[in-house]
Amino acid sequence: MNSSDRTPIHILGAKCPVYRQIPLAKMTTLRVGGPAEWYIAPRRLDDIYGALNWASSEGFPVTLLGAGSNLLIGDRGISGLVVSTRYLRELHLDEVSGEVTVAAGFPLPKLAWQLANHGISGFEWAVGIPGTVGGAVVMNAGAHRSCLADSLRQVEVLEPDGQIVTLPRSALAYNYRTSCLQGSSRLVLQATLQLQPGEDSAVVRQRTDKHLKQRHGTQPYHRPSCGSVFRNPKPQAAGWLIEQAGLKGYRVGGVHVAYEHANFILNGGHGTTQDAIAVIRHVRETVRQVWDVQLQLEVKLLGEFDQDVSDFL
Ligand SMILES: Cc1cc2nc3c(=O)[nH]c(=O)nc-3n(C[C@H](O)[C@H](O)[C@H](O)COP(=O)(O)OP(=O)(O)OC[C@H]3O[C@@H](n4cnc5c(N)ncnc54)[C@H](O)[C@@H]3O)c2cc1C
Repeated sequence: MNSSDRTPIHILGAKCPVYRQIPLAKMTTLRVGGPAEWYIAPRRLDDIYGALNWASSEGFPVTLLGAGSNLLIGDRGISGLVVSTRYLRELHLDEVSGEVTVAAGFPLPKLAWQLANHGISGFEWAVGIPGTVGGAVVMNAGAHRSCLADSLRQVEVLEPDGQIVTLPRSALAYNYRTSCLQGSSRLVLQATLQLQPGEDSAVVRQRTDKHLKQRHGTQPYHRPSCGSVFRNPKPQAAGWLIEQAGLKGYRVGGVHVAYEHANFILNGGHGTTQDAIAVIRHVRETVRQVWDVQLQLEVKLLGEFDQDVSDFL
């Protein structure tokens, strides 16, 4: 099969086709990066099993993707099989107890609104985060002084050996934007959250809306970005350090530091990963020189790059 042949192949037992040489740029919010050698976005657990067995028999490495909102994918793409969990979308919520079990691909904004509509509070903070539950579990996503670990009770993961294991929150080594799932090959299938039931849904919706409006006023929300590029070196904010170093608007090729929020980089339309890496490297180096602070990446690098990125890993 040549590299431009996009005809899917069908794996025995799996209803979901596997595609070859699928461009991944459109599957990330920054809109950069090369293709997946093989790509699957299953809607059913059985299809994940089938695909992983197939990848294992072919000796392919497996890379996991959610909504691609915290990623920088190399311009050369990702070899092996890329599994996106974005279409695993089951949701069970108990309005009386506030317990919510939700599949990895469920979008965070949609979940925040659904919970608000049922008068379940404690998840309003997530309304403006354009990721999935799986990505949020891995990243310990957070905003407005709350984070996923606050309400997570347990997660169900698929281990590389095919076993499904339930892990309590205490087993996940949560900290600021980190968990022990980062860099592991465990696939998050679903999460169980414990939230607060029984509030007036109009009041929860109002709080949710307030969070969203606040975000729209402070971030370039609808333009191609990957969210915050750097972790905040607490107690300082990365965005403030970058802004005070005079870097707003700094540009390489099609990528520049956002004027609205200096910890965001934006792709003006023709940016590449190489441009993004050059901007990030310049920002990190300038902040080190001006503030003597070594910024750490929050965004995750996946795949193969045209340049050496080992200093970011
Ligand atoms: C405009 C904008 C605003 C943002 N604001 C915030 C914010 O306020 N707070 C915040 O914390 N983040 C923010 N982010 C970053 C991002 O949305 C979060 O980190 C989100 O949780 C990532 O989810 P995702 O599904 O997009 O994961 P991806 O970006 O696809 O993946 C992130 C990591 O999780 C892994 N992964 C994804 N799904 C699975 C799975 N099912 N099993 C195992 N591993 C998996 C990937 O391999 C990767 O390492 C923002 C991003 C954007 C673009």
